[in-house]
Amino acid sequence: MSMFINPLHIPLYDRVDILVAGAGSAGCCAALAASESGLHSVMLLERYGFAGGTSTQMLDTFYGFFTPGSNPRKIVGGWPDLVVDELQKTGSIFLRPNTYGAGTGVNYNPERLKRVWDMLILQQGIRYLLHTTLIDVFPENEGYTCVFWAKGGFGKVMARRVIDATGDADFSHLAGFKYETAGESEPAQSMTTTFRMSNADLEEYKKAGGKKKLVSQMKDAVAQGRHALPRKEGSAHEMNARGCISTVTVKVAGYSGLNAADLTRAEVEGRRQAFVYEDFFRQEVPGFGNSDIIGLSTQIGVRETRRVYGEHRLTKAECMAAEIGADSILLCGAPIEDHRLDPENGEETHWEYIPGSGIYGVPYGCIVPEGSVLAWVTGRCFSATHDAHASCRSMAQTMAMGQAAGFAAARSLEKDEAAKDVSVAALRETLSDRGAVLEIPDKTADTSRDGWLTNR
Ligand SMILES: Cc1cc2nc3c(=O)[nH]c(=O)nc-3n(C[C@H](O)[C@H](O)[C@H](O)COP(=O)(O)OP(=O)(O)OC[C@H]3O[C@@H](n4cnc5c(N)ncnc54)[C@H](O)[C@@H]3O)c2cc1C
Repeated sequence: MSMFINPLHIPLYDRVDILVAGAGSAGCCAALAASESGLHSVMLLERYGFAGGTSTQMLDTFYGFFTPGSNPRKIVGGWPDLVVDELQKTGSIFLRPNTYGAGTGVNYNPERLKRVWDMLILQQGIRYLLHTTLIDVFPENEGYTCVFWAKGGFGKVMARRVIDATGDADFSHLAGFKYETAGESEPAQSMTTTFRMSNADLEEYKKAGGKKKLVSQMKDAVAQGRHALPRKEGSAHEMNARGCISTVTVKVAGYSGLNAADLTRAEVEGRRQAFVYEDFFRQEVPGFGNSDIIGLSTQIGVRETRRVYGEHRLTKAECMAAEIGADSILLCGAPIEDHRLDPENGEETHWEYIPGSGIYGVPYGCIVPEGSVLAWVTGRCFSATHDAHASCRSMAQTMAMGQAAGFAAARSLEKDEAAKDVSVAALRETLSDRGAVLEIPDKTADTSRDGWLTNR
């Protein structure tokens, strides 16, 4: 809450039952679930001109739907499935094995995904407000006054319930909830500007050894002083657009995602690195001789900033225990994938797999800020330690968290329950009814390229 803004002087834009701040994968699914019963007015507010957050700003593969390893299980369902189904209707997905171990990914065309998010949001009658940044919050007895800035000036929305899906926990920060900032106790994960290249001959690339060969080529190029690549691993994979690849290779470390001066330096450095990789691809990688960068991510990808202290805090020990508690609202099987500031023993990304069943449950308390009555926190800024967060941040999980927050907020209005007191048993029932997966499935998933429909 700021000392400079007087909310009484700000024009009232709207009153809603549920406000979702941030339209990333978590926020979109939160709004979709919250609106499902049709009983509540739901608003989704987003600072950029399109929904999806990281899913459309920079990426093209949902991880986390499937567990890694030789016996893959599909462990996320409900609204996240419906999103993929819409993409599937346009023929715009394929399943691809992930060579770095996060499990089979669902690859999509991110530009189409922007359309899919629009369509689903509008179909549900959600009040959709783009180009609008949440800048202040005033707690009231019956909800929150949320102040935003947009090109037309300041405005306020009065909301009975709020879901913080800003990725950076902007709402929770402004509302006075407690959080840990990345880098406080362990080094924050590095940032990445993703880039896409066109006109690649992927047959030639694969014939010459594909991804496996690429990593050794990167190492050679650096060792022999030909290209100063900042990271000698990462992903360069086929996109859902002919002859195009998408990459997660750039590595920018040591900057804060919450500070404009740091972010400026990080953006400039990320773009510089992208073109260092372009030279390397053109000069050294078979199939890329006539290839160009055709797109950089809308902004540099920030893996972690604020992590709110919730009613429950997911820890590494809990992930590694591979248990599904009676208070679980989603499942995760992704390994810890920690993009480190300083490589230890040459290890640029630290991987640690979930043992035993390979799957753990995420408790409801992880999406409820400590003591919260009227607000939830979901997606990238949920309540977890650094290492647990490094496992539970793939987009299937952020979508699943979002849908749980959306149903919980709707229920809290219907039953007059505080966020921290929502009946988890009833919430789990709603989630199961809607197709969410809360138990380990017996069935091995079909992870063939066209396998999506057989898993549905
Ligand atoms: C470089 C990188 C690579 C990754 N690779 C993968 C991958 O291949 N597959 C995978 O599954 N996961 C991957 N992840 C992880 C995953 O993408 C994220 O954890 C996940 O997308 C986060 O979703 P979210 O909705 O919580 O947050 P975000 O996607 O960050 O969404 C937050 C939204 O809130 C908006 N917002 C922020 N502040 C405000 C405000 N004050 N007012 C209004 N709007 C606001 C933002 O513009 C954004 O749209 C990657 C992450 C990064 C950074």
